Amino acid sequence: MKIYVDNAATTKMSKTAIEAMLPYMAEEYGNPSSLHSVGQRANEALSDARERVARVLNCEPREITFTSGGSEADNQAILSAAWLGARKGKKHIVSTAFEHHAVLHTLNKLAKEGFEITLLDVHENGLVTAQQVREAIRPDTCLVTIMFANNEIGTIQPIAEIGAVCREKGVLFHTDAVQAAGHLHIDVKAQNIDMLSVSGHKFHGPKGVGLLYARKGIFLVNLIEGGAQERGKRAGTENIPAIMGMAAALEEAAANLDANQAKLVKLRDRLIAGLEKIPHSALNGDAVKRLPNNVSFCFEGIEGEAMLLLLDDKGVYASSGSACTSGSLDPSHVLLAIGRVHDVAHGSLRLSLSEETTEEEVDYIIKAVAEVVEYLRSISPLWGDLVKGKREFILK
Ligand SMILES: *Cc1c(COP(=O)(O)O)cnc(C)c1O
Repeated sequence: MKIYVDNAATTKMSKTAIEAMLPYMAEEYGNPSSLHSVGQRANEALSDARERVARVLNCEPREITFTSGGSEADNQAILSAAWLGARKGKKHIVSTAFEHHAVLHTLNKLAKEGFEITLLDVHENGLVTAQQVREAIRPDTCLVTIMFANNEIGTIQPIAEIGAVCREKGVLFHTDAVQAAGHLHIDVKAQNIDMLSVSGHKFHGPKGVGLLYARKGIFLVNLIEGGAQERGKRAGTENIPAIMGMAAALEEAAANLDANQAKLVKLRDRLIAGLEKIPHSALNGDAVKRLPNNVSFCFEGIEGEAMLLLLDDKGVYASSGSACTSGSLDPSHVLLAIGRVHDVAHGSLRLSLSEETTEEEVDYIIKAVAEVVEYLRSISPLWGDLVKGKREFILK
């Protein structure tokens, strides 16, 4: 079997997305800034894509800026709010300890420029509360940035409530919705969101394209200077094929959202139930308030990387949940944020399903993981110590 369960890292493009792109790579190759009819057709396609994604998110087309992906959208949102804040003498930002690095590293940069950053503690269940946000906001707070759903452990934050607190306090609210878009209902108006980041390749669209929604009236700073594309907010000839692919993928995901969620939740819970039978294991994050396709576990006495390689041999393509820190031996900042100790955090496994995943595949994965965990424990000196009682188990 060949089972790709790393859909939080990236997804396979859908047929619909590919077909939406093809004409713009072949006959309709115009530059939307050209005045002739070839260019104007490309420009119309761009407007059409903007209207369609705006409809899905419940905003106006002019509130959408197309970017090169989720990372760029996060950078632009945060730097814009910081710039606006600094002009009013407000240099405090509230976020969480388990954001994506596109957010955390941007905040680190701002900290070096004199901004004060409050990173909220994440509860053991992988959630922060609107009350924590309320308590953290100060008179000099210019931005709250909290992810919609976490990319490693899949937990879904109370976004509408956090947004309501920010509205009440007059503070801008940005959310990295890269893992949520295409998987959860998003309505920027109903959920009180001022700025929101999306990436095409996390919902069966192409890589290298994303978007930033910014409520009208919010001034965006340019990360890339040049031509007047994207209302002067993002220079560079627009990637029309990718934008068309992303718009098609987002619409398709929105149209099938309820059916996909129902299907995935069943598979997810079957997988969780199977893995929970492995001794000394624990699900990471809330069992219910989590993405329909996310399963994240820690297994005691295991090295995550070894587990991934052995699973790869069995045709299961998964992640330790720390793809961005691979190559370093530091455990995931997300798992540490929810209170997992280093030894346990090292034995993490993230399985992110897709709409194509089957029950049969889920059962195969359960068996494969159980075998791999048992084998690795059998050759681990650390496990030997645990079993002999020289060290205490952390996970029951
Ligand atoms: C993947 C991801 C990003 C980065 O998106 P890119 O389009 O790859 O730049 C940002 N935030 C989260 C939560 C993600 O999962």
